[in-house]
Amino acid sequence: MAAALLARASGPVRRALCPRAWRQLHTIYQSVELPETHQMLLQTCRDFAEKELSPIAAQVDKEQLFPAAQVKKMGGLGLLAMDVPEELGGAGLDYLAYAIAMEEISRGCASTGVIMSVNNSLYLGPILKFGSKEQKQKWVTPFTSGDKIGCFALSEPGNGSDAGAASTTARAEGDSWVLNGTKAWITNAWEASAAVVFASTDRALQNKQTLDMGRIGIASQALGIAQTALDCAVNYAENRMAFGAPLTKLQVIQFKLADMALALESARLLTWRAAMLKDNKKPFIKEAAMAKLAASEAATAISHQAIQILGGMGYVTEMPAERHYRDARITEIYEGTSEIQRLVIAGHLLRSYRS
Ligand SMILES: Cc1cc2nc3c(=O)[nH]c(=O)nc-3n(C[C@H](O)[C@H](O)[C@H](O)COP(=O)(O)OP(=O)(O)OC[C@H]3O[C@@H](n4cnc5c(N)ncnc54)[C@H](O)[C@@H]3O)c2cc1C
Repeated sequence: MAAALLARASGPVRRALCPRAWRQLHTIYQSVELPETHQMLLQTCRDFAEKELSPIAAQVDKEQLFPAAQVKKMGGLGLLAMDVPEELGGAGLDYLAYAIAMEEISRGCASTGVIMSVNNSLYLGPILKFGSKEQKQKWVTPFTSGDKIGCFALSEPGNGSDAGAASTTARAEGDSWVLNGTKAWITNAWEASAAVVFASTDRALQNKQTLDMGRIGIASQALGIAQTALDCAVNYAENRMAFGAPLTKLQVIQFKLADMALALESARLLTWRAAMLKDNKKPFIKEAAMAKLAASEAATAISHQAIQILGGMGYVTEMPAERHYRDARITEIYEGTSEIQRLVIAGHLLRSYRS
């Protein structure tokens, strides 16, 4: 049923990409409401996350499980190849839809969110951008349904932020390439049937292209984590009695909740703006970096305050608050640390003043 809903939603979303209908998307800023199709997608993903992901999130984290059954169902919903054209097996949706879906899935389970993000943005993204027709048929289509997933291997033991220092080499040998090097930290690596591997044919070139769309995915993951941390804090504060009244009667708690909601909403608008710029084929590198920076730092701040609101119960593993904090913290590190996002933003800012 959910798959049918998503399929129905994809037609109008595709139409929304034409210039006239594109203006509808800007109603987000005017009416603060998503287009109907995106609202339907949001609800589908929210229902799926509540039913299928929230109940397993703690176990996935504790036992370091790969949620294979849930990932397969997400493939059926079109969530693993959201902006891949339908003729290649994807959902044919836009990046705003991807951002919305990523947030909802990560709200249910951040681990599942990053699996989804890696397959969509980091594995399928570069093949769609740089691959030939034959490569797309071979390496995209089988990775859209959840039967196979991909990974992205850039980092090495000796380098992370400094991608240009990667030492893995590629050498042509007949019809094949010989790769020589060691990769580290690769999400999905154990389960992946294929990898996008960064290797250099000429170490002197020292050039790599940044994959900025991945930052919109991680920004959205951070929003989902921040939202679930806020949900957790509000639920607890409404029910926890202190000095004869619920915690929510205390102004200091209300102020914390207000600041958390403000940081979350601000980061969400930045993230949706970056996605809309990308969908509209406008420059979005600076905006994606801003979205990732704002959303990841908001997630850390919100989950930090959520622990404080839960008191001792925020610290123990029986409650989800400490997991939300760990989940939030990594969003400040992978796909470009906060320091790297600041460098990207400052670079664009200064260039704009000099030009
Ligand atoms: C759970 C997890 C999953 C990951 N998944 C993947 C994956 O799927 N694929 C992949 O390729 N990689 C992956 N990574 C690696 C991740 O992208 C790197 O950890 C990240 O880019 C940071 O690199 P580093 O750890 O080498 O830190 P370093 O680059 O050594 O940085 C250490 C510190 O120095 C700062 N720093 C470095 N250079 C500068 C600079 N020029 N200016 C200012 N500050 C600087 C950093 O911001 C950071 O605070 C993953 C990592 C983790 C923890």
